[in-house]
Amino acid sequence: MTIHLFDTMAGATRELVPLEPGHIRIYTCGPTVYGPAHVGNFRTLAASDLLVRYLRYRGYHVTWVMNVTDIDDKIIKRAREEGISVGELASHYELQFLSDLDTIGIARPDVMPRATEHIPQMVELIQKLLAGGHAYVTDDGSIFFRISSWPEYGRLARIDPEGMRVGERVQADEYGKDDVRDFALWKGPSADEPSWDTAIGRGRPGWHIECSAMSTTYLGQPFDIHTGGIDLVFPHHEDEIAQSEAATGKTFVACWFHCGFLQMGGQKMAKSLGNIASVGEVLARGVSSRALRLALISAHYRTPLAFGDESLQAASSAVDRLDALLGALAAYRTDRPDDASLPLLLGATRAAFEAALDDDLNMSPALAAVFDLVRELNRRIDARTLSAADAGRAIAFIRDLDRVLAIAPAAEDRLEPELQLLLDERAAARTGSDWAASDRLRIVLAERGILVEDTRDGQRWRRAE
Ligand code: AMP
Ligand code: ZN
Repeated sequence: MTIHLFDTMAGATRELVPLEPGHIRIYTCGPTVYGPAHVGNFRTLAASDLLVRYLRYRGYHVTWVMNVTDIDDKIIKRAREEGISVGELASHYELQFLSDLDTIGIARPDVMPRATEHIPQMVELIQKLLAGGHAYVTDDGSIFFRISSWPEYGRLARIDPEGMRVGERVQADEYGKDDVRDFALWKGPSADEPSWDTAIGRGRPGWHIECSAMSTTYLGQPFDIHTGGIDLVFPHHEDEIAQSEAATGKTFVACWFHCGFLQMGGQKMAKSLGNIASVGEVLARGVSSRALRLALISAHYRTPLAFGDESLQAASSAVDRLDALLGALAAYRTDRPDDASLPLLLGATRAAFEAALDDDLNMSPALAAVFDLVRELNRRIDARTLSAADAGRAIAFIRDLDRVLAIAPAAEDRLEPELQLLLDERAAARTGSDWAASDRLRIVLAERGILVEDTRDGQRWRRAE
C-alpha cells in the first residue's frame, strides 16, 4: 500500500510520491509568538506532527521545518502595551510555545527558524520579484506584490483574482498601493517599530514572505508538503505560492495539507470569539497531557472537531484503558506456552492501523483497531491464554504503534532502589502470610507516593498523582 493524502491544490486525494526517493520535506506555518497559543492552534500542529510521525514509522526520512514568527504587527502592539521590547516578548512566548509542544507530545521540528534571523533571505526573494516586475516600491518605502503580474493567482483558494478583495478595507498604511488586491512584501520604516537596513531599503518583512523564504532556505524548491490550518489557504498560502513561484519560475510545493478547525461551543476556537483554552488551562482542570493529545488527534484532521468536557472525558478514559492494559501486561506472570493465535491478532491490527492511516490519515478506524486490540488482550489476560513472552510481545507491539500515536506512558518507570527493597520485603511478607507486615509496608510505600495493589500476578505499583 502507498500513502494517500488530500492535496488542497488538486482538490483530491493523491498518492504521496516523494520528490527525492525516501525523503519527505515538510514545512508547517508556526506560531506568531505574541501570547499563549490556544489548543485550536495545537490541533493543526498535532495533525502535522501525526503526519511526520506516520511517515517516519513508514520508513521515510522526514525533514520537518516549522517557523517562528517573531516580528509582526501583533507582537509590536503587545510589546508596546506591556512596555517591553519586541525581542523580550517574543522569546518569552516562544519558550512557552516549546514547553506546550512538549506537553502535547508534538515532536520537536528538525529546524525552527526565526523570522528575524532570516531577513537577508527575504530581501533576496523580494529583489528577484522587483527585478521580474512582480513587485513595486511605494513612497513610504514599502514593497508590494503586484497581483496583476501573476495570472496564476487564486489557484489554491479557487478564487478569481478579478473579483477578489474589492471593497476590502484598505489599511491606513497601505494607501500607496497600485491595486487594492496587492499585498505587502516589505513594510517601510515607522519611527516606533523595529526595522532593518537592507539592500531594498529600511523596513521590516511582511508575514507571507517570511514563510516563502524560510521554507525554501531549509527545504529547497519545490518541497513535498506544506501544512497549516484551513484558514491559512487564503490569503497566506496563496500569497506564499505567488511570491515563491513568481520569483523562481519553479513550483513551490507538491502537496498542500490543511487541518480543519477545533471548535468550542459550535464555533471555531478563536481568540477574537473568546472561546479559547490554553494547554495550561486544560491541564489545570485535571486532564492529563496524553488525554489532551488524544482529544486533539482523535478525529480525521480535515473534519471540524468539537472540543469540550465530553471529548476530554472520552480521551481520558481511553488513555486509562491503555495504561491499565500496559500495566497488566508488564505484571503478567504464568508458565503457559505461547498463544499461537497472537501473531495473527497483532498482524491484523497492524494491517488495519496502516490501511487507515495510509488513507489520508484516517484516525477513527486506526484508533478503533488499537482499542479493539486493547479489549482483546484484556480478555486473553483474564483467560490466562497468553504466555509471559506473549505479554512482552504485546507491549512491544503497542509501543511500536505508539511511535505514531504518542499516547502511551513513558516506557518503564523503574522504582528507586530503596523503594524497590520495601516492595520486595512486602512480597516476602505476603509469601509468609505475614499480613500485618504487608499492611504496614503498604502504608510506608503510600507515604513515599507509591500505591500498591495486589493482583493475581502479584503486587502492582503506581505513583500517586
Ligand atoms: P493564528 O494564531 O490564528 O495565526 O493561528 C496559528 C495556526 O493555528 C494557524 O495554522 C491556524 O490555521 C491554526 N488555527 C487557529 N485557530 C484554529 C482552530 N480553532 N482550529 C485549528 N487550527 C487553528
Ligand atoms: Zn506560513
